[in-house]
Amino acid sequence: MRAHSREPVLPGSAIGVLGSGQLGRMFAIAARRMGYRVHTLSPDEDTPTGQVADVEINAPYEDLDAIRKFASGVSVVTFEFENVPTATAEAAAECAPVRPSGHVLHTAQHRLREKTFLSRAGLPVTRFEMVANAIQLREAAERLGLPAILKSADFGYDGKGQFRIKSAEEFEAAWKAVGEREAVLEAFVDFDQEISVVAARDIRGNFVHYGAVENHHRNGILDISIAPARVAAEATATAVDLARAVLEKLETVGVLCVEFFVCKDGKLLINELAPRPHNSGHFTVDANITSQFEQQLRAVCLLPLGAVTQLVPAAMANLLGELWRSGEPDWTAAAAMPDVKLHLYGKVEPRPGRKMGHLTALAGTAEQALADVKRARDLLDCKL
Ligand code: AMP
Repeated sequence: MRAHSREPVLPGSAIGVLGSGQLGRMFAIAARRMGYRVHTLSPDEDTPTGQVADVEINAPYEDLDAIRKFASGVSVVTFEFENVPTATAEAAAECAPVRPSGHVLHTAQHRLREKTFLSRAGLPVTRFEMVANAIQLREAAERLGLPAILKSADFGYDGKGQFRIKSAEEFEAAWKAVGEREAVLEAFVDFDQEISVVAARDIRGNFVHYGAVENHHRNGILDISIAPARVAAEATATAVDLARAVLEKLETVGVLCVEFFVCKDGKLLINELAPRPHNSGHFTVDANITSQFEQQLRAVCLLPLGAVTQLVPAAMANLLGELWRSGEPDWTAAAAMPDVKLHLYGKVEPRPGRKMGHLTALAGTAEQALADVKRARDLLDCKL
């Protein structure tokens, strides 16, 4: 077993990324720009990360021998997909440092563990109850009231494994929808806005953040992010303080995103944690001195964190698979908008709801950036 040193991992070294989606791809681009080599492992082939990495390993996360071999070939392991089994992170940690550590991943990959951690730490979360069967679901709903949202305890993201229960007749359908397995029932929050804070912490405990980002979802999937968020200054300050508390209490070394509901009375509730760069932080690639991906690289390599300064207001719009419903989008039309940047993830099959890419608009104000990014996305779709 290799000693887990606190020496920086310097350019020229190889970094291992567990997972191979767009987050790994943008991480790999940042890492290669700084002269690192990138190895990625996932069960898939010709992946968004693999297309830009030096080495793409195709193996299941459960193949612990493959994980050990993979980790032995790199100087540090990080991940872009947090839903890998705990045993995977542990096997990797036998052969290389894993940052953020397996316990951050373990907490954030399971809603119940995550919410229990947050509420025990005294951080504000939506009222929730654990539900292990249909009877408990009924009882929990009586206490929390309806409407309520039933969410599977594990492997949940982008609104998947969720069911909004509006009346008692829907208990059965909801229980089936989450796969009749351990779940969390959450009180429905009639929120005013959704915001997130992407932040980073280094091994010495230094903390940086990208401010509050305003998020708009469609069908439970992030649709548009606006940075900076158009919220009261106190909401931003509180969100940043809460994010700092989360990263400190989890002793995170890396990037972590905290998603919040801003309630009608101005109070904040933490909805979810993502222990990695986040879709709502993609604007940082084009608008900030240091992107969230370079920041992850710096943190996990034990280099000093980079400046987070945002140089220009920005808005990001996701491009989902449905945009391809009548053929290839009109890239030329969107490229005609000079302050809009196109990012595509190299995914071949444009399934509905699949994140294929995004656009980032940069402008003098957040409102203008929002208007521009929406217009650019409409232009892509203009063949209809
Ligand atoms: P999640 O996967 O838990 O982040 O949920 C996806 C989206 O569903 C959130 O960003 C919200 O727009 C909505 N949502 C989730 N939980 C709640 C809740 N308790 N009350 C109201 N809306 C919610």
